[in-house]
Amino acid sequence: MLPTKMRQKLKDTLLGTRISIPSIANRRMKALHYRVRVDFSALRSHLKKHKITVDNICEQCSTNSVEDPKHYFLECPAYDQQRSKLLETLEDNVIVANVGTAEI
Ligand SMILES: [Zn+2]
Repeated sequence: MLPTKMRQKLKDTLLGTRISIPSIANRRMKALHYRVRVDFSALRSHLKKHKITVDNICEQCSTNSVEDPKHYFLECPAYDQQRSKLLETLEDNVIVANVGTAEI
C-alpha cells in the first residue's frame, strides 16, 4: 500500500493535474526557448552556423566541447549547480512518473 501522500500524487498525476509540460511563464523565456529550438540562439554552435563567429567551442568550461544545446543543457560542468537544482525541483514529478505504471 502506498503512503497517502504518494497515493495522492499518483492519483493527481493520473488525472493529469501533477505532471505537465513545464510552462514557460514569461515572454522572454518563451523567446529564448524558441531560439534554441530553431538553432538561432546565442549558443556558439548556432553563432557559428550563422557565420557570426568562427569558433563553436564552449567558453564556459575546459572540456573543449562544442557549445550546442545538448552540451549547454546536459553536459557542461559550468552549469552543474544549476542543473542539480533543476533536477531537485523535478524530483517529485520523476518519482511519480516512475511509479505511474505500478498498481495503486
Ligand atoms: Zn561547457
